[in-house]
Amino acid sequence: MQEFIYYNKDGIEFPLPETIFVTQSLSDIPQNEYIVSNTIGTHAELVADEIDFYIKNSQDSLANKIKNVEKLYEVNAIRFDNAKDITFNQEVSNGVLLVCDDEQKKQVLKSMVPDEFNLFHVNEDIIKDINGHIGNLTVIVDDDGEDIELRVDQIIWFDEKELGLKQSGCFDPLKSSIDDVLATIRQNITNYEYRKFTTYDKTICQYHERREEICSKCEEVCPTVAIVKDDSKKHLEFSQIDCHGCGGCVSVCPSGAIDYAPTSRNSIFEMAELYEDTHPLIVPQKMNIANLDIEIKENVLPFAIDGEKFLDESTLLTIAQISGSQLIFYTDFISKGSGDAIRIVNDIYQSKYGKDAIIVAMNEEELKLALEKVAFIENSHFNFNQDGLKKREVFSHRLQRIVSDDDLGEVKTGEHVHYGLVKVNEDKCTLCLVCVGACNVDALQADASDNTLRLNPSLCTSCGYCEVSCPEADCLTIERDVIKLTPSWFKENVLAQDELFACVECGKEFATTKSIEKIATMMGPIFASDPVKERSLYCCADCKPKIMMQNYFDQKKEGMANAR
Ligand code: SF4
Ligand code: SF4
Repeated sequence: MQEFIYYNKDGIEFPLPETIFVTQSLSDIPQNEYIVSNTIGTHAELVADEIDFYIKNSQDSLANKIKNVEKLYEVNAIRFDNAKDITFNQEVSNGVLLVCDDEQKKQVLKSMVPDEFNLFHVNEDIIKDINGHIGNLTVIVDDDGEDIELRVDQIIWFDEKELGLKQSGCFDPLKSSIDDVLATIRQNITNYEYRKFTTYDKTICQYHERREEICSKCEEVCPTVAIVKDDSKKHLEFSQIDCHGCGGCVSVCPSGAIDYAPTSRNSIFEMAELYEDTHPLIVPQKMNIANLDIEIKENVLPFAIDGEKFLDESTLLTIAQISGSQLIFYTDFISKGSGDAIRIVNDIYQSKYGKDAIIVAMNEEELKLALEKVAFIENSHFNFNQDGLKKREVFSHRLQRIVSDDDLGEVKTGEHVHYGLVKVNEDKCTLCLVCVGACNVDALQADASDNTLRLNPSLCTSCGYCEVSCPEADCLTIERDVIKLTPSWFKENVLAQDELFACVECGKEFATTKSIEKIATMMGPIFASDPVKERSLYCCADCKPKIMMQNYFDQKKEGMANAR
């Protein structure tokens, strides 16, 4: 069965492969469900605007155009197959709250059909709080000193304030028009669908069930109430209905605990494999390139993505290395996380290749310049099977390839993307391994074969949980916001090592020498007058009670003998 359809009433100037059903008439389309189409209205799950953009503007040879059009369909099929963005429905009734002055209310009423909504009206200054989401909003208003709860489905708020901005179901006519807002509200009552945009792995989240808050970056950057912290349990709560799908949380998440459901990291990897030997032009959906008239030189191939904020250092490096080329990122907005990631990857490429990896174009003029400039980067191509690896592991493996055996200095990381180097004062470390238990990304490891505490710096998010968990003063510190471009950055470095201590009674090794010395230093003076107690400090858990009991009975026996 054909999964791809190409429709254009004017036809196409060159033949397309048999995998694509080509038609000039919408009425000729069989009632198949297609996966990917170049345009809407063709019974396809996914519409790829970039196909027509490429066909219209590419300077590729005819043979390459035919090959690349098929690639663009395949790329989108991969995106569709891997997407984890389930669609949900929310019932929305006709309860509407109007927040405005009397004059604005009159204007809204003029544009409404009488009684089409169950309408409430309040002035902004009595609103105290808003909870819930579209279809189920609770607005707390102050009624002469008494709190009243209003239950509504949607809100029309002129010049809406912070409280409304974060909530789904609030619309501001001053940002569009009264008619637009009323049309949206009516449409939502007929059918309101929302998507699940994020997936979450709590096992590597740096906030989840930790004693102290050391990360909540996703919640900080979320422009809505889609991610909320429950500080009593240290749990994150995700409200998909409030999520706009921008992906900002994904690019700042240090461990990769959050992934972007419509285009996951794994999906990006599989899609990128079709961009080898091309110049990928990354375009978020909202950039609307279908009608853009711009000459795109040979080998430039659009790489369409859904949200504009989710790309991180790991996904960017994946696309750059597989293509072996500089990338163009055409977007009118750069998120905090993506901004840091772009700068970091560019600094790394500058150190190695003397060129940026990513060229950002924020308008048509900049896109033209970027398209002239974009080039392959000699020896930068690299690929490996990263399927199933975590974000940090992918970045580490890819970066290691760039650094190889060189010393390329270091790059500073950013305000929103963090790397760092854990340091341990070996004299103070007792090898209690509390820090290893605290690290949920496996940057810190214990090696029983040689009694060492080890660190792979490339995996460390510099979250600092090991630092706050270490029981020794001035022992574990972190040099923050740096990536060292040297071979040792990718190896397990020994931070501390110790000999095992053998029990003075049975000879069994039971603790590290330094931990025994530490306890002996603390307790020795207290037990100084009792040689058996003092000796127990050097005994294993089995022998300690034995010698204490033996001492008790010996003393008792001695006491009885003296009494006779
Ligand atoms: S940014 Fe990532 S690691 Fe930090 S709290 Fe959010 S999900 Fe957890
Ligand atoms: S080594 Fe420490 S700072 Fe680094 S990720 Fe693990 S717990 Fe966090």
